[in-house]
Amino acid sequence: MSYDNRRIHLIPQLDLLDDRTRSGLLRASKIFPLKVNSYVLENLIDWDAAPDDPIYRLVFPHQDMLTEEADHALTALETGALAAEDAAARLVEIRDTMNPHPADQTSNIPILDGMQIEGIQHKYRETVLYFPKQGQTCHAYCAFCFRWPQFIETSAPKFESKDNARLLAYLRGNPHISDLLLTGGDPMVMNARRLAALLDPLLDPSLAHVSTIRIGSKSLTYWPYRFLTDPDADALLDLFKRLADGGKHIAFMAHINHWREIEPEPVQAAIARLRQAGVTIRSQAPLIRRVNDNADTWRRLWSRQVELGIQPYYMFVERDTGATQYFGVTLAEAHRIYKGAISSVSGLARTARGPVMSTSAGKVQILGPMTVNGQKALALTMLQSRNPDTVHDPFLAKYSQEATWIDQLEPFDPVDTFPFGSKKGAA
Ligand code: SF4
Repeated sequence: MSYDNRRIHLIPQLDLLDDRTRSGLLRASKIFPLKVNSYVLENLIDWDAAPDDPIYRLVFPHQDMLTEEADHALTALETGALAAEDAAARLVEIRDTMNPHPADQTSNIPILDGMQIEGIQHKYRETVLYFPKQGQTCHAYCAFCFRWPQFIETSAPKFESKDNARLLAYLRGNPHISDLLLTGGDPMVMNARRLAALLDPLLDPSLAHVSTIRIGSKSLTYWPYRFLTDPDADALLDLFKRLADGGKHIAFMAHINHWREIEPEPVQAAIARLRQAGVTIRSQAPLIRRVNDNADTWRRLWSRQVELGIQPYYMFVERDTGATQYFGVTLAEAHRIYKGAISSVSGLARTARGPVMSTSAGKVQILGPMTVNGQKALALTMLQSRNPDTVHDPFLAKYSQEATWIDQLEPFDPVDTFPFGSKKGAA
């Protein structure tokens, strides 16, 4: 059973919430997208601890996520001061103030035969992102998702494509592209037949240079039965095996925020099946206040992942979009949490890189605070960049206790610029 914004009142467990939490949830879900399934409701959330349970926070919008402007608009709607027929447009206006599609993603859309290719982003030389139309939803939504405008109406365009042929033509014409990343939403909501139609052509010798297929997904923990008992689960695993046997590296980029998500037995069975099919599982997740904002959660998450055969990959800084004021963690605190976690796990779990901001210029890692000429600075580096020449060049910013994103930092030396060229950080 699945519930969305329109069916939220039918969720049986809402009766377990106190009145304030329940009414706040109903209000916030007029602004933010909501989707949850029975598996998450029954297996991941500790309802005795809600709303402070981290998985509850992960999934359900909350009154405190609303900006003052959003709160006023909802009050106007509730009191009749805002006419019901004007409400939809007003709610879109409010969502538009929350920086939909951050980090200037629309500038990454490539050109083929003089026309933009919708549903593709090409930011880094080796990697192309593809947003298949049928993959632009998820088994459940995360309340902090930076792709939230894919799921609810804003003025911003949605990224999606149903034209696999244009993607394949673009890949054929760009032999330096080694990685295709399927993203969304969650491509694992697509059926195996559609996925095969998209991915089998990559076995053609003309696309041999596309050696890695990455799949960004949270299905492993939001719906592990995708790989176990769904009617086409076997066909999906067969597809992965066929691609792996054909020489492709299948990199499953599992979005896992909390160690509790990987404890249920079906998740561990799904991990085992994916690995048997030749799939490598890496994990990545943002650092989210109220969900995983402490070192011990990450220590336990990374350690357990290594036991289960998953490679820790990224700890991201929450992006400056949506309810960032509610979920965001300062860069200084993010570094403390990362350091606390990474220093307490074995070497095999230290493959996790973080904290990392995915900015318009590239992936910026916070290396940590240091003192230069008696002044406190923040050391950073580019892990990935639009300009490959700047990768792994360390640089310094003035230390800030409050900054939550790169555009709030300034170069340490006033005459310097950051490696991506601007005085202040790229958003
Ligand atoms: S699973 Fe990923 S894309 Fe879907 S809502 Fe969560 S963060 Fe967003």
